[in-house]
Amino acid sequence: MKYHMRRSEREITDWAVMEDILNKGKYATIGLCRRNEPYIVTLSYGYESTARSLYFHCAKHGLKSEFLAENPVVAATVIQDLGYIQSKCKQRYRSVVIRGEIEILTIEAEKQKGIDILLNHLEENPDIVRAAACHTPEQFRDVQIWRLKIGEITGKEGE
Ligand SMILES: Cc1cc2nc3c(=O)[nH]c(=O)nc-3n(C[C@H](O)[C@H](O)[C@H](O)COP(=O)(O)OP(=O)(O)OC[C@H]3O[C@@H](n4cnc5c(N)ncnc54)[C@H](O)[C@@H]3O)c2cc1C
Repeated sequence: MKYHMRRSEREITDWAVMEDILNKGKYATIGLCRRNEPYIVTLSYGYESTARSLYFHCAKHGLKSEFLAENPVVAATVIQDLGYIQSKCKQRYRSVVIRGEIEILTIEAEKQKGIDILLNHLEENPDIVRAAACHTPEQFRDVQIWRLKIGEITGKEGE
């Protein structure tokens, strides 16, 4: 059940504004949990509007992968830092909180699509990285692509 926002006047309900935050953001902080143990990790992402999904790239091994193997249900946040207001102890921001499940993509075509979305989102000239980093079958095999499909999203702005 969706929890109501206490400061409801700050809630962003317009999907276009939430998408704007996702389109402008470069990285998300993801909260993971296994057996009552929390872990957070920040990863760069690419956003795809039609699938309402965020794509991430990472190595196959490491702590975040071990958490994900045990529990794919996550919460994530993307923050637009619009500046701290001195002498008011206030932060200007827009942010979203997402809840959903992360899927590790294994089908080659899906992985390739994820890489393309990621590079198109992050890079001014995606072909430079495409040629250098995702060129050989080994490079392609060793990179893991995660897809976070947005289950629920809330938006909020401050000041
Ligand atoms: C803005 C930003 C963008 C990033 N983009 C990517 C990306 O696209 N892909 C990617 O793989 N990684 C990215 N990183 C690095 C990422 O945050 C992790 O450090 C990395 O993915 C390894 O995570 P892991 O859980 O596998 O760590 P492991 O190598 O298994 O190490 C786990 C241990 O290291 C600590 N640790 C892990 N990461 C951090 C961290 N960032 N800061 C402090 N302590 C840490 C943990 O607390 C834990 O004790 C990014 C980091 C930042 C800040």
